[in-house]
Amino acid sequence: MAAFSDRAPMASKEHVVDVLVVGTGASGMSAAITAAHHGCDVLVVEKEARFGGTTARSGGWLWIPGTRLATEQGIHEPVGAAKAYLRHETTTHFNEKRVDAFLANGPEAIDFFTRNTCVQFDMPAVFPDYHAEAPGGQSGGRSMVTRPFDGQELKDRIKYLSPPLPELTVFGMMLGSGPEIRHFMRAFKSASSFIYVAKRLTRHFLDVLRHGRGMALTNGNALVGRLSKAAMDRNIPIWLSSPVRKLVTEHDGVAGALVEHEGQSVMVRARRGVVLACGGFPHDIERRKQLFPHAPTGQEHFSPSPISNTGDGLRLAEAVGACVDGTIPHAAAWVPASITARKDGTHGVMPHFIDRAKPGVIAVTSKGKRFTNEGNSYHDFVQAMVKACEGERETAAWLLCDHKALRAYGLGCVAPAPLPIGRHLRSGYLKRAPSVAELARLIDVDPTTLEDTISRFNASARSGDDPEFGKGSKAYNRYQGDAQLQPNPCVAPLAQAPYYAIRLVIGDIGTFCGLVTDERTQVLDAQGRPIKGLYAVGNDAASIMGGNYPGAGITLGPALTFGYVAGKQVAKVELQIPVKQIQPEAVVVERGA
Ligand SMILES: Cc1cc2nc3c(=O)[nH]c(=O)nc-3n(C[C@H](O)[C@H](O)[C@H](O)COP(=O)(O)OP(=O)(O)OC[C@H]3O[C@@H](n4cnc5c(N)ncnc54)[C@H](O)[C@@H]3O)c2cc1C
Repeated sequence: MAAFSDRAPMASKEHVVDVLVVGTGASGMSAAITAAHHGCDVLVVEKEARFGGTTARSGGWLWIPGTRLATEQGIHEPVGAAKAYLRHETTTHFNEKRVDAFLANGPEAIDFFTRNTCVQFDMPAVFPDYHAEAPGGQSGGRSMVTRPFDGQELKDRIKYLSPPLPELTVFGMMLGSGPEIRHFMRAFKSASSFIYVAKRLTRHFLDVLRHGRGMALTNGNALVGRLSKAAMDRNIPIWLSSPVRKLVTEHDGVAGALVEHEGQSVMVRARRGVVLACGGFPHDIERRKQLFPHAPTGQEHFSPSPISNTGDGLRLAEAVGACVDGTIPHAAAWVPASITARKDGTHGVMPHFIDRAKPGVIAVTSKGKRFTNEGNSYHDFVQAMVKACEGERETAAWLLCDHKALRAYGLGCVAPAPLPIGRHLRSGYLKRAPSVAELARLIDVDPTTLEDTISRFNASARSGDDPEFGKGSKAYNRYQGDAQLQPNPCVAPLAQAPYYAIRLVIGDIGTFCGLVTDERTQVLDAQGRPIKGLYAVGNDAASIMGGNYPGAGITLGPALTFGYVAGKQVAKVELQIPVKQIQPEAVVVERGA
């Protein structure tokens, strides 16, 4: 089935709607639902046979300061703190108008979705910004996660929902953030956790038998599940396997697009506009070559995003006079990644979000030396990795741990005890050796240097210190560590043989360089004028984060928010723009813990 809707339009040579949305990730679905809610006739088209894009593989976290969810938690951040933080984080690329639009419309978007649709979120009381100690940084109240969702609500359409990233699942099940992961880690240490895990696994296996997949949707799968249910409730048609091939211009702007649909080229006329939401360019080799300094041939980079995200939105818009901002200091949201061998013989890309912060884990270069605080954010870690590998043949590193850490926390794709590790050893993904020197030889690192590195680290780690790089010194490090371990949840010696290593390369979880747009999501031409009828959201638009990664959810927060802005803009509903100017200098900022 290539299209679904309770009123699925027949394929024809010409199809007329108010709004054409291109892409079914968070940004596109947000725009579609908002526009439809305000009375527009909307069509969503998706290149893939399943909907959800990168969003369906994501953690489903959104970073939006000042929401009702925060105040309900008793978190009232100082006026202007978020703006001060973004000004600090975005340095040379602070775009005040777009930042103001984000800060004004983000909380409103959350209210809109949580009050009018099934799209719901939960906010933990504590989830520090990634640079909580910076001006305007907070120790909680800005990152929220999508509430788990029952896939049965999607009825038959569940089979068109993109699955989670296999590397992030256990038995094909993506674990919900926080409490659920803790239950799984403690399954053999606590009776209540054991019961929780037994119930969760039983339900999952029954779901797989009945429906061919897990139905307890979490994280990004829950976000896409909820957004698509909201779209279903509004009868928004989604054409699958229907890529946009060309934007059509008439008179003074974009009038629609040519969509490949059911073997035909359909001219979709969009009376009010086309919203590009194609998810940026993680798999566009040419643009990688141009914008990723560590990837001179475009091949030295690995993305867990769907391979359909080939930069179509950027190219479609450039063809009608739009510009891509290639000046953003980091062209993508970097993540250290390991390359896995899947059971079917293909390779996967495993993003290393949390394991680096755990005690008993360190990272070294091919020279056997540590190079950074391993507990820092993935984006910061990769920047340090690039710097440490300057002048080397390739940009790569090793993540190391001892047996105690491996079995307690797992590493990369390797799950903690009692799950077996044999498959990963056999595939070569996980290297193991009885001593540090032998591990060094196995991974082609100088044994004396590695022994030196580990004994120096261990000497201070015994008292929970890391004088060299300060692992565990920041709120975000500690949040991802092991709270049971004090005084430093992130630091323990690597002392229990055997020792393990996994090779790290550079990946991304989304691209930052994108189309130049204004605060209303209108795509701008080389003269800075809006191209009539053309909008870009999500990773198709240049990020407002200035190439930095300030906190958990800084791509999905703006994706949902600017999708909402685009939806209102095309529906000609009054927007909160421009907003009152806040003077960040005058702000008293509460520092993160
Ligand atoms: C493992 C992982 C975890 C992540 N966790 C988080 C997180 O918790 N919080 C966060 O903020 N970010 C996270 N990210 C990043 C985040 O998922 C992405 O930045 C975000 O989903 C991008 O949303 P989007 O709407 O721009 O694009 P996408 O969700 O990628 O959707 C784009 C869609 O457009 C379709 N498309 C492409 N070209 C065409 C065309 N020509 N015609 C029609 N359709 C087309 C694609 O097939 C795709 O389905 C994570 C990423 C990964 C990989």
